[in-house]
Amino acid sequence: MLHRDIIEKMSLVEKIALCSGADYWTTKAFPKHGIPSIRVNDGPHGLRIQKAAADNLGINKSIPATCFPTACTTSASWDRKLLREMGKALGEEAMQEGTAVLLGPGVNIKRNPLCGRNFEYFSEDPYIAGELASAWISGVQSKGVGVSLKHFAGNSQENHRLCSNSIIDERALREIYLSAFEKAVKKAKPTTVMCAYNLVNGTHCNDNKYLLTDILRFEWGFEGAVMTDWGATNNRVEAFKAGLDLEMPGSKGTFDKEVLDSVLNGELSEESINKSVDRMLSLIFSSTKTKKESYKYNIEEHHQLCRKIAARSAVLLKNDDNILPIDKTKKVALIGSLAKDFRYQGAGSSKINPHKISNVLDGLNENSVAYSYYAGYDRSTANAKLVEEAVQGAKDCDIAIIVVGLTDDFESEGFDRTSLDIPESQDQLISAVVKANPNVVIVLLGGSPVTMPWIAEVRAVLNMYLSGQAGGLAAADILTGKVNPSGKLAETYPLRYDDVVCSDTFGINPKQVLYKESIYVGYRYYDKVNKGVLFPFGFGLSYTQFQYSDLKITGTSLDEICVRLKVKNVGEVAGAEVVQLYIGKPKDGVFCPPKELKDFDKVFLNAGEETELVFNLNKRSFAYYNVNEKDWIAQSGEYSILVGASSRDIRLHSGVSIVGENKQANLKQSNIPSTDWYYKPVGKPTQESFEALLNYKVKPLKKQTKGNFDLSCTLSDMKESSVFIRIVNKIIEIVMGIQSDGIDYSNPNFKMIMETAVNVPLKNLILMSGGRISSNMANGLILIANGHLFKGMGTTLKKR
Ligand code: BGC
Repeated sequence: MLHRDIIEKMSLVEKIALCSGADYWTTKAFPKHGIPSIRVNDGPHGLRIQKAAADNLGINKSIPATCFPTACTTSASWDRKLLREMGKALGEEAMQEGTAVLLGPGVNIKRNPLCGRNFEYFSEDPYIAGELASAWISGVQSKGVGVSLKHFAGNSQENHRLCSNSIIDERALREIYLSAFEKAVKKAKPTTVMCAYNLVNGTHCNDNKYLLTDILRFEWGFEGAVMTDWGATNNRVEAFKAGLDLEMPGSKGTFDKEVLDSVLNGELSEESINKSVDRMLSLIFSSTKTKKESYKYNIEEHHQLCRKIAARSAVLLKNDDNILPIDKTKKVALIGSLAKDFRYQGAGSSKINPHKISNVLDGLNENSVAYSYYAGYDRSTANAKLVEEAVQGAKDCDIAIIVVGLTDDFESEGFDRTSLDIPESQDQLISAVVKANPNVVIVLLGGSPVTMPWIAEVRAVLNMYLSGQAGGLAAADILTGKVNPSGKLAETYPLRYDDVVCSDTFGINPKQVLYKESIYVGYRYYDKVNKGVLFPFGFGLSYTQFQYSDLKITGTSLDEICVRLKVKNVGEVAGAEVVQLYIGKPKDGVFCPPKELKDFDKVFLNAGEETELVFNLNKRSFAYYNVNEKDWIAQSGEYSILVGASSRDIRLHSGVSIVGENKQANLKQSNIPSTDWYYKPVGKPTQESFEALLNYKVKPLKKQTKGNFDLSCTLSDMKESSVFIRIVNKIIEIVMGIQSDGIDYSNPNFKMIMETAVNVPLKNLILMSGGRISSNMANGLILIANGHLFKGMGTTLKKR
């Protein structure tokens, strides 16, 4: 039946109801109209299907599934084919379980290395993020399973994620924060997009028409459905107007009456509801076209695929005197409890209950390496006895492999990290072991950059990131040389936190975040100010070497420029190289970073083998976003073409002269003088410079005070206002403690729940609480915080 016919037969009440979920994971069925229910599930690195208690923080149990390496890991593969293969495997698991939409991938930009959820995102660079996300999406969707590209947009921090306003200038928004979404939407056509929790430039993403309709649908041609992040609804009426189709999870009709009234009184057109229903029907019918439940995926094959992906993504950061691969005849000490209690995934909604886990000990056993194991530390805490045993063990061996990294109380969905360091106990362990044995190899685990105060004292560092359920096998495959490492960092490792351009704004005023650095994110900034880094974007070593030659550039018109070069494996073993193409804009044009990634390729070459690579560029490779023209413009001038093995290891370069495509081509951003920070950055950008870029003055956030609290406030906002609210906070802490084995902020689940409970606006807390917090309770608390104790208590105790 045509959608139009169904829509005509549905009542307005039914149409509104279809646009919010039935429960945590499903949409509503309307059998009399032939509309079935579909199920959506997390997430980007494996299927999280909860059969009993549901939650969006990965706390309650889910059914076993393959836990693939996380995005911080897979991005380091720089391998589109591999990401597509992973997508296909995820699609197979979704097919078997009858999941219609997989909630991923996440393509938010890693603006700051402390964002707790960086492990779930690809990169600080939108080009690679968009390319890899597209490959992943096309893999999943090739199996007839939909995806949800998330979190749209500007969601680069976890603290206060439901009420944080990301203030981003239009050029940075387009070039940095929206670009990966744009690429994935245009190239891979995801079935759905998930809006982010936060606000962008003062409007919640949930009811942001500029983002959801003007840009996503009108400019980019997105035809799918937009759903909310879980509990992100701000204003359902405005959300319909903005083009938001599906509210998740279901709010049990909380907003239906309000929406109905708005249609009846003419504030909201029925047409906007019909449009959402039409998109919902397309999603539902396309997801149920093929019968999928009879499919069975091969668990062991997927485990081995995880191993392959992890091995091809691991980044060898240091390898002095070729200590790696290890000589199997040598005596090996394996140190570090994370080797055994292997950290292979992140915490939060992407958390998988894996079929099995292979740790580093399993990997060494399988690769026939004899070793003695020493715990060295007790998760993140120091233990002098364990250190002493490890030091003694290292003394008795030829090589000490120390496994260290971030534990999940350090990074998670729901809260941000507070420092760039790994647990101090682990740094101390490394310092103690290197004194006993100089042949130290570090295996690093974790979802984001860390400092390495011991880097000069160790011989090798292998970064496994969060490598999925078979990560331990992959680590051993590389340590022993069975696999030649070929991963490269898709993010910069700074020397110290202060070097991060936004270290002065991140987490300081989490509800109003000024993205003052504009387009200077990651390597774009470090290159601009010529700052030393620990490891640059694009960096990674191999057990072989590659030679680059014969750079040739042909074509003169914007869409025809073609770059060719040759790469040869000049070492003694086969290996893969990631060749990166950067472009530098004309020096006398608009402000810009010295270079930006515009293409890459990964090639596998046997020893002695040579190949030619071809990169076809287009207008977008040369363009910047001109805010006056509201368009992408390539300026006329001389561009540099830089081809390298990393952003700081450019092997070939040349120039190309471009004639801009129209007379506006040399338009600069007129209100920014060429003496400004954005042209010549020194220190951190000032608010004045940023406001010139924005073209308006940012109003300071009004502190909500007693008398003015409302449902947009959080419990922590109201804490100081009344003893009663402080008691409520304490009670929540105790109740959550009982539910999660004690009040323990080193337990990531507890920390995540508490952060959510106290820093989420009450109106969203109602939606997220699954019925545990009613609107009467929330309104009562507000009355109490505003000084009306008895009235508030009465409201709190009122029946629903
Ligand atoms: C996360 C989403 C996730 C959703 C459902 C939210 O907390 O931000 O990424 O898909 O929960 O679990």
